[in-house]
Amino acid sequence: KGKRAFIAGVADDNGYGWAIAKSLAAAGAEILVGTWVPALKIFETSLRRGKFDESRVLPDGSLMEITKVYPLDAVFDNPEDVPEDIKTNKRYAGSSNWTVQEAAESVKHDFGSIDILVHSLANGPEVTKPLLETSRKGYLAAISASSYSYVSLLKHFLPIMNPGGSSISLTYIASERIIPGYGGGMSSAKAALESDTRVLAFEAGRKHKVRVNTISAGPLRSRAAKAIGFIDMMIDYSIANAPLQKELSAEEVGNTAAFLASPLASAITGALVYVDNGLNAMGVGV
Ligand code: NAD
Repeated sequence: KGKRAFIAGVADDNGYGWAIAKSLAAAGAEILVGTWVPALKIFETSLRRGKFDESRVLPDGSLMEITKVYPLDAVFDNPEDVPEDIKTNKRYAGSSNWTVQEAAESVKHDFGSIDILVHSLANGPEVTKPLLETSRKGYLAAISASSYSYVSLLKHFLPIMNPGGSSISLTYIASERIIPGYGGGMSSAKAALESDTRVLAFEAGRKHKVRVNTISAGPLRSRAAKAIGFIDMMIDYSIANAPLQKELSAEEVGNTAAFLASPLASAITGALVYVDNGLNAMGVGV
């Protein structure tokens, strides 16, 4: 029987979430995605108008089908958490049931269960500011959108995940090495995400036989990465210095996610897997 995946954090065809969806679809999984509410309309319209058709092509020539797109804002756990200004914001008012709890309820109502949960989202409003210039509000917002969002997603989806299921998030080496430019508390948020991967692996493993891993990905020119402002430099740096001197493709991260979600990885949990052409292993630039 085919597996069903819910991938949170897909709003165009440039990011890791899209590539992971494709690799999972190529491996036979049914694809559900969670799309950030403010980006939902344009994503659905583009999908419907065929704007992504070229990037929907799978290795066998067929097109990836997204069975359903769910609106999602992963900084809100339930309707009581949503402040008035968001409720009445016209980018949100057109959609409903987009808090984490409601999204999980909707998926349960529509499909009953899932096998694979992917968290491919992050947001840090002050990401361009050095940590020393980051406000408390900006720091906490980065942690809320980029770290707690994962705790919340797993907490709410775990009850509908089949035993043997797998959960994956995306992290970045700025959590453990100094990457000037990855500011606003985003380096802190990734460190939290990585630590939580271990604790959640224990809790989800014992309670639901679900595996929890994170992929530390190399640089990709996604929408989110372009907003940080140093992505071209990071890509050039990696090509110049990594053991494998090639540009990283999103598909290479997608394929690793598909492996981690498969029975081939049945004993891997609580792990951080680098998919970065080996850059993490270097001690100096050469
Ligand atoms: P992306 O822009 O494709 O994905 C980020 C997504 O997060 C977007 O679709 C955005 O709409 C969504 N999002 C933001 N706030 C949200 C919220 N509150 N609720 C729901 N969705 C929200 O960019 P990406 O670079 O592919 O990012 C995916 C993951 O990969 C992130 O965790 C990112 O930190 C990680 N990552 C990226 C790189 C890179 O170089 N691009 C490197 C390592 C790790």
